[in-house]
Amino acid sequence: MSRPAEEMTAEPVLSVNNIEVVYDDVILVLRGVSLEVAQGRIVALLGANGAGKSTTLKAISGLLKTEDGEVTRGNVTFEGETVSNRPAEEIVRRGIFQVMEGRRIVEDMTVTENLRLGAFTRRDKEAVRADIDMVFDYFPRLRERANGLAGYLSGGEQQMLAIGRALMARPKMLLLDEPSMGLSPLLVKEVFSIIGKINREQGLTMLLVEQNANYALRMADYGYIMESGKIVLDGTREELMNNEDVKESYLGGGEERRSFKNLKSYKRRKRWL
Ligand code: ATP
Repeated sequence: MSRPAEEMTAEPVLSVNNIEVVYDDVILVLRGVSLEVAQGRIVALLGANGAGKSTTLKAISGLLKTEDGEVTRGNVTFEGETVSNRPAEEIVRRGIFQVMEGRRIVEDMTVTENLRLGAFTRRDKEAVRADIDMVFDYFPRLRERANGLAGYLSGGEQQMLAIGRALMARPKMLLLDEPSMGLSPLLVKEVFSIIGKINREQGLTMLLVEQNANYALRMADYGYIMESGKIVLDGTREELMNNEDVKESYLGGGEERRSFKNLKSYKRRKRWL
């Protein structure tokens, strides 16, 4: 079902090859997931709660280990080298950064201190200063609160800080886990527009996990849809946005969609699987 992302033209920098993930030695959560992300592109990974999106990101970033999870079949390669089941620190050193769901900023440190923390492996002090300025240019709200404690930021500002902190490490690739979570529609729009700008200006490769399919697809070059630990559909932004099942199940809205959700989900599964 899953088709390689040749439409993206560029070489994949990240390949997830038919991975199976098991938690606590017994709980099988991913059942053969494959996806590719080409250099400099934004790829969206969409799907309902519990589909396995965060687990896929953690399998890439090495954070699975902290939850007693393991890739038990298949592999993940980054820039041609296998990174699955490698320690998270090694994967960070290779340039992959995960911006976690729920933000995880240090609340009793200031905004600027949090940003410096993102650059803790760097010795180029001048460039770190310049990068803090760059982050403030992307997120002017953070500049206004530079010396304030991060714990006092609003949810949207904390999300901005989490993304800014990841940028401070000069990553090659960002894994973004639900950047829209808990944000007002206006802030979602703002955060997504900045993510798009960072991608365009820095050429930063991104894999974006979202339940908010509307926003995510609009900014992605390519998308994958997950259900119950499997990729059930993939395609370019245009293909997915014009796909009737995607429109019906992920892009629509209103009461009718909610009340028929189960039936439609069943019909969709029958068609996709
Ligand atoms: P959500 O949007 O709710 O985060 P998701 O698509 O990101 O959903 P995952 O968080 O990857 O889904 O979860 C996939 C499945 O794996 C779920 O059934 C979940 O209960 C299970 N799971 C996740 N983390 C663990 C863990 N540490 N131990 C055991 N099972 C887990």
